[in-house]
Amino acid sequence: MEYSVSRSKRKSITIYVKDGKISVRAPLKTDFKVIDNFVASKEIWILRKLAESSDRMKRYSDVFEGREFPYFGKRLVPRVTDKKRIWSNDEYLFVPQEFYSNGVFVCSDLFLAAVKKYYMREAKSYLGERLKEIGEHYGFSYSNFSLTNAKSKWGSCDSANRIRLNWRLIMLPKSLCDYVAVHELMHTVEHNHSRNFWKGVATIYPRYKEAISCLKDAGMLINLWR
Ligand SMILES: [Zn+2]
Repeated sequence: MEYSVSRSKRKSITIYVKDGKISVRAPLKTDFKVIDNFVASKEIWILRKLAESSDRMKRYSDVFEGREFPYFGKRLVPRVTDKKRIWSNDEYLFVPQEFYSNGVFVCSDLFLAAVKKYYMREAKSYLGERLKEIGEHYGFSYSNFSLTNAKSKWGSCDSANRIRLNWRLIMLPKSLCDYVAVHELMHTVEHNHSRNFWKGVATIYPRYKEAISCLKDAGMLINLWR
């Protein structure tokens, strides 16, 4: 099995499987043989993770290859519009003529930049509005809302109660956008992941565990159009 190793000041060896690749983190002076034996002992687990990962990659191949566009949990397909700007409905992503060549849609870098702009604009208004609604309804207050392009987080809330939501959230179902909003709003009163925090989340969003697993499952989308 091929894997990459990164060494750091840490106490134990850990294996990560992501996007079909195996990486190992190990303490600074661990013998290569020790690492190899450790990896070999985890072979069944690694193979299972690799299978899951390739399954996911297959499921998202139409999205990553620019044939479908995830939008609030749906997959939009491109369709030409006479308008000068990108817009969408429940089924289609309407694309201006300029992104077509001889009647065929071309998913160019220029197009992806335009679609990203469209998504960010929609994200700013939808997520901002929703955060405000949920916050007001449950009596949370936060100091500021902005979008983020983070690679590993769907949202964050800092010690000054500034909430940031990843603009790619609007690729996911609205129920998951709500979960992340609730999660970050709860951080305005509990700046940690203590029992109290989760208790609070559960009172507002009882099926939060299901949401967390769906977010994990859709995790690849956080890397889309980088
Ligand atoms: Zn959190």
